[in-house]
Amino acid sequence: MRYADLHLHTYHSDGTRSPREVIDLARERGLDIVAISDHDQLAGYFEVKRYAEERGILLIPAVELSCMVDGADVHVLAYAFDAVDEQLNERLRRFRETRQARGHRIVERLRALGYEVSAQRVDELAAGGAMGRPHVARALVERGYVASVSEAFDKLLGTGKPAYIDKERFRIDEAIALIRATGGVTSIAHPTLYRNHDEIVPKLLDAGIDAVEIYHPQVNEEWRERYANVARFRGKFVTGGSDDHGTVKECETLGTVKVPETLIGPILERMSS
Ligand code: AMP
Ligand code: FE
Ligand code: FE
Ligand code: ZN
Repeated sequence: MRYADLHLHTYHSDGTRSPREVIDLARERGLDIVAISDHDQLAGYFEVKRYAEERGILLIPAVELSCMVDGADVHVLAYAFDAVDEQLNERLRRFRETRQARGHRIVERLRALGYEVSAQRVDELAAGGAMGRPHVARALVERGYVASVSEAFDKLLGTGKPAYIDKERFRIDEAIALIRATGGVTSIAHPTLYRNHDEIVPKLLDAGIDAVEIYHPQVNEEWRERYANVARFRGKFVTGGSDDHGTVKECETLGTVKVPETLIGPILERMSS
């Protein structure tokens, strides 16, 4: 039996590890099938496709899309799509551009408030990836304005705080169509983290999402069973992953979730065709 972790982040989004470190660590911790699911981009996949293969790891093309459902944030995981599809890559590129513009607006806001962070430094920290508040937070830590990333969120960057600016998100139907068009499947990430999730999850499955991420550090046994049934009843499947972000506090979870390959047939089928 092979085991999978289908939800991992690298420094290409808000994780701290390099894609190679993620592959090495996954191997060390007994995983055979891995998906690097950075937010809104595929750089990690391309970077270690060969590296993973050479080490006997099956690397699944993956991405975690920031979506909007009824005014709320929902993360949609996408798997086993055609990673070189031009339309998909172009859409993600445009999405990252608007993320960068928003990051720069946050920097301007901070500067107006007297925090001397530079847009250039935040660009460097984002390393061409999907720029987000964690990168701005790290720049604030570097300059000594706050002691930690979480303090940066508490004081300045969190929702409703002085330097908070909202971001663009995918419409859920656009995300589903985009991934379907490239041969992939979608799963609702960390289903219990949304307000009204017991209403949202069935609705998303009926709207065309293919699976629910029931194995996740933040999904307890009760909800796992409940959503396994909700999925099964609709002819959908389940996925799982550790949502590891590296050495970010409380997000170092690689190896804590191991999904047997028998559960993720719809993903593996797409990999062999
Ligand atoms: P963004 O996509 O730019 O709005 O940033 C969202 C990301 O910031 C999330 O994926 C988390 O990784 C991180 N984040 C959100 N809230 C906090 C917090 N209170 N402390 C640390 N990181 C956070
Ligand atoms: Fe994240
Ligand atoms: Fe997420
Ligand atoms: Zn994630």
